[in-house]
Amino acid sequence: MREMKRSFTKKLLSVMLSLLLVMTLFGCQSSDSAVSYKAGTYEATVAGHNGDLTVEVVVSESEILEVNILKHMESPSISDAAIERIPVAIVENQSLAVDTISGATVSSKAIINGVTEALKQAGADIDKLLVKNDKEAVKGETKEYTADVVIIGGGGAGLAAAVSAHQNGATVIVVEKMSRLGGNTILSGGAMNAVDPVRQGAQGIEDSVEKHYTQTYEGGDKLGNPVLIRTLVENAYSAVQWLEELGMTFKDQVFTVLGGMWPRAHKPTTPLGTGFISTYQNYIDSNEGIEVLLDTEALELVFEEGRVTGVKAESLEGDVILHANNGVILATGGFSANQEMLEKYNETWPSLAGIKTTNHPGATGDGLVMAEAVGANLIGLSNIQLLPMGDPVTGSLSGNIEQAVENRIFVNKSGNRFVDEGQRRDVMTKALFEQEDTMMWVVLDAKNYPTKETKNNFNETIDDLIAQGRAFKGDTLEELAEQIGVDPANLVKAVEEFNAAVDSGKPDAFGRTLFDKKIDTPPYYAGARVPTVHHTMGGVEINEYTQVLDATGAIIPGLYAAGEVTGGIHGSNRLGGNALADITVFGRIAGESAALKR
Ligand code: ADP
Repeated sequence: MREMKRSFTKKLLSVMLSLLLVMTLFGCQSSDSAVSYKAGTYEATVAGHNGDLTVEVVVSESEILEVNILKHMESPSISDAAIERIPVAIVENQSLAVDTISGATVSSKAIINGVTEALKQAGADIDKLLVKNDKEAVKGETKEYTADVVIIGGGGAGLAAAVSAHQNGATVIVVEKMSRLGGNTILSGGAMNAVDPVRQGAQGIEDSVEKHYTQTYEGGDKLGNPVLIRTLVENAYSAVQWLEELGMTFKDQVFTVLGGMWPRAHKPTTPLGTGFISTYQNYIDSNEGIEVLLDTEALELVFEEGRVTGVKAESLEGDVILHANNGVILATGGFSANQEMLEKYNETWPSLAGIKTTNHPGATGDGLVMAEAVGANLIGLSNIQLLPMGDPVTGSLSGNIEQAVENRIFVNKSGNRFVDEGQRRDVMTKALFEQEDTMMWVVLDAKNYPTKETKNNFNETIDDLIAQGRAFKGDTLEELAEQIGVDPANLVKAVEEFNAAVDSGKPDAFGRTLFDKKIDTPPYYAGARVPTVHHTMGGVEINEYTQVLDATGAIIPGLYAAGEVTGGIHGSNRLGGNALADITVFGRIAGESAALKR
């Protein structure tokens, strides 16, 4: 009996002890994870994508009440989703461990850094705020949608197709896996090639559709499909006019874009490629019948009774099934951001392991996988274009100080020139791979930046770039050489020889014939550049109506493709300025073909 009592008491004690332990633990945990603040409003300024970003944070003693972004220089459109959503996510989750927004990672991180700094001032325990505290994402029921035309990808090709399909009487749904529209177009310099009788006529530039054809065909080593190239060059000018009818504005003067071979590139009056996307967005906003589903990733094409009839996709809320009455347009772009595919298909370059890209992170070749699964023929996948103009840190084209191909030279780490800087993109990049540390300096003079307000193609002033350590300045060439650590005598000699060639107008020692102005007006500027993956020329085989073909050349009913996901146009080397022409021309055709159920 005593034994029993003793054991009962022991048990009770042990239960009470465990209870106490549990309570203590729980008690500790809840008081441990709670973060306290000095109530108030705090401000912090941190480095953003293109300049400073200032945030304001309002806290009570126990809660983050508000996060406001007071000032930023993030790229328009690209950063919108981050600016809208990151502050909301931080407040909603009471945490700094929130997901960054795909396609706007740098802006997302800058906002999080800013809030971190402000919360440090509020005396917060930052480590506790770095514990992930997401509200459980609840997967909802499968959602189904139906439209005449379903478009996968909301880049330049997909949006041109959406507008064109709608203009041809179709209802349209666009699914885009990222949090924003715009793909690569929005990041691009915005140059669009077209033989333009009005602008080129006024500038006295002799050109013809035939010349554009020949340069595209020969520039791609005669590997492109002549029928598709003809379609491209013959419809490029009407694509410019179509964009203008939709409200897009281009500058009055055309120019030669890097690797473009001829002055026929149209430059938007708006920064980068933003004008293309805002033009399409305006059309979508002011017309009924085009639905855009962001954060929705297409996984698979639905193939029933011999034709493509829809798409299986996934959104943040759950599965999505899209039924297409007429057909599906693949506009998913290329695979420049897919390391595995780059390594698998590369035959041209030294290893591309670890190489950076100018592309947005969604360029992962999904469309190729989906198309192949329904029997599409994939062509030219080894034709991968690199540019010699990548930012050494991000791989992007931003920060490029050049203003005109004619007015700058490239020198290597020794200060020596090494290539004809007016050459094809692949020739310049191959030469760059042979230089020490695979890097070079772009060198030019003050004539390229006549005022403090003068901006490069990426909306950056030279002073912004110097402040960010992405460009260097010297009042003499020797001073510039010292800044960038190259041999001054070599740099001076390189510039002198270049200037002599400009004076003589004869090809220089590298065969360069593309000259305009001498490099002779201080201050002199330099910016570092490395090779970067820019465009994957291969892809899904199509005909001139953008119908996707199988390996026997037969049409796959219900499936169309446009833009970088397709192959057969640019051969082994795409001319600068031809991508925006390609995606607009073929996007437009795809929209029409699918709407008319061709
Ligand atoms: P293009 O220049 O041909 O329009 P981009 O790369 O600019 O090509 O645009 C392609 C768009 O397609 C990007 O916005 C990309 O995020 C989107 N995309 C790629 N794969 C998918 C997918 N599986 N589902 C939905 N959207 C996708």
